[in-house]
Amino acid sequence: MKKFAIAVDGPAGSGKSSVAKAVAKELEIIYVDTGAMYRGVAYFCIQKGIDPSDEVSVLALLEEINLEIQPQKGGQRILLDGEDITSKIRTQEIGQGASDVGKIQSVRQKLGDMQRDMAKRSSVIMDGRDIGTFVLPQAEVKIYMDAGVDERARRRMEELEAKGEKPNFETIRQEIIQRDENDMNRVHSPLCKAEDAVYLDTTFMSIEEVVNKILEICKDKISEV
Ligand code: C5P
Repeated sequence: MKKFAIAVDGPAGSGKSSVAKAVAKELEIIYVDTGAMYRGVAYFCIQKGIDPSDEVSVLALLEEINLEIQPQKGGQRILLDGEDITSKIRTQEIGQGASDVGKIQSVRQKLGDMQRDMAKRSSVIMDGRDIGTFVLPQAEVKIYMDAGVDERARRRMEELEAKGEKPNFETIRQEIIQRDENDMNRVHSPLCKAEDAVYLDTTFMSIEEVVNKILEICKDKISEV
């Protein structure tokens, strides 16, 4: 069967990962969460006592980073030097660090190469900020998922509360606004909708509705689906 790629981009909390995982399961293809890779680099820096926004120090570390992505049923595992760090990278601090290392062009180049390599080997649905514009510009299907900032903050609250945390709505909302600002205004591969991407505002849509919409788009555009 011919390989194909689905690129899903959008801001923090727009629902990309839940949706992309469900589509991957439905189409029996591999899900790649590229945010986890930026988070992995930030985690490594913080572990080494380096500020993720200190470009010179991050660059000096870049060659040492040994990240591995292992696709799994229903998600992926990310390993750093063989250690599974999948659950350790889901904090707000690491999210902000990921946004900081994501400004550095060599970091983007290195992770982008790894991502393209994965798409060469299998059919993928890949989510991130620059997949349709930079990593896989030839992807058969491109989706740009968005949602209002209050709704995205509400979704993050729910996620954190499910983990037993007691987040403050306004703090979460401000962090999301800050991350949007960083991601949309950086010099290299800023977050933006690819010209040929389908824009989906998910503010008032359930995960299931978004999944069905994407499956419909895939059926139209990919003969193998
Ligand atoms: O999606 P997630 O919240 O895990 O991503 C964390 C951060 O990593 C984003 O805010 C963004 O700055 C960065 N990122 C990126 N390019 C990607 C994926 C994530 O710059 N393809």
